[in-house]
Amino acid sequence: MTDTALLEAAVPLITAWYRDNGRPLPWREDPSPYHVWISEIMLQQTRIEAVIPYYARFLDAFPTVRDLADCDDDRLMKLWEGLGYYSRARNLKKAAIAVAENYGGELPETAAELKKLPGIGDYTAGAIASIAHGQPEPAVDGNVMRVVSRLLCDGGDIADPAVKKRMTADLREIYPMGDESRCLTEGIMELGEVICIPSGAPRCGSCPLSGICRGHLTGTAENYPFKSPKKPRKIEHRTVFLIRCGTKYAIRRRTEGLLIGMWEFPSVMGHLSSDECADAVREMGMEPLAVEKSVTAKHIFTHAEWHMIGYAVDTAAQSRDFVWADAGEIRENYAIPTALKKYAAETAK
Ligand code: SF4
Repeated sequence: MTDTALLEAAVPLITAWYRDNGRPLPWREDPSPYHVWISEIMLQQTRIEAVIPYYARFLDAFPTVRDLADCDDDRLMKLWEGLGYYSRARNLKKAAIAVAENYGGELPETAAELKKLPGIGDYTAGAIASIAHGQPEPAVDGNVMRVVSRLLCDGGDIADPAVKKRMTADLREIYPMGDESRCLTEGIMELGEVICIPSGAPRCGSCPLSGICRGHLTGTAENYPFKSPKKPRKIEHRTVFLIRCGTKYAIRRRTEGLLIGMWEFPSVMGHLSSDECADAVREMGMEPLAVEKSVTAKHIFTHAEWHMIGYAVDTAAQSRDFVWADAGEIRENYAIPTALKKYAAETAK
């Protein structure tokens, strides 16, 4: 059987399996374009269980594209707080504004039009087009590539964008339309999540593809997919300052780099001694009265790691370069990234 014929033979097996076995997730109850879009963006790099409460709160706050387009930035960030990868939230709002202005408040139907919106790449465009609009458009992520690699015994490097492009084109050739399209996109992803799993042996005994899967039939499934090793993450050493004046702490909005738009405690690159810390605070225009070591913390992003040390610094006067807030205000009103949560917790002690 050719690869195309094998892919084609897999389609009805996957869609029938999905109809019988698909998990009842909140965004599947009413797979409108808006619901699929929000859920797919939240699910990027984030586990389903973690997304469910965020999804419910988000839709309560912004039930339509227009509500999202008109929302307050700080409210949006607060609702996203803890999900990480905050550029996703900023792009959601930008795209909602574009949809309200250019598409009459309705997300476009085709993947090509969807990809013109901020934050919507090949995968998300394919998911919205196929799940919500029944278009013959695949949504290829790591789960899908794993299933396809094992089904076909395809040894292409799934870290190579050319391999992803090729698999997407091959799937597009055999993709069905209408409800079959929705069930194929949902089904193949779900198969990759719960049956043809990423770690440990694939559960071929429960898989609808076991009768045709080359990987299973030849006993080589676990050799696939092939993935070239990742580059090591960049390590950044940082010193975080908890600068306190009375009960208030200095915070500022990040204007560049990772976590742009979020609130943070002032920080500098490098691990400073307490004397260097006092000098750094003077450079910020404040006279330190007392400097004490605070907690250390480590946070891992996709491409970088922050290794942080902290200092608690008392000062007599508030610099106007910062916003000053007490522990309660920080907790309620300012979206502090998970990377700095340990420092936010220190303000409440
Ligand atoms: S039969 Fe096994 S290896 Fe093949 S797709 Fe199913 S779970 Fe994966």
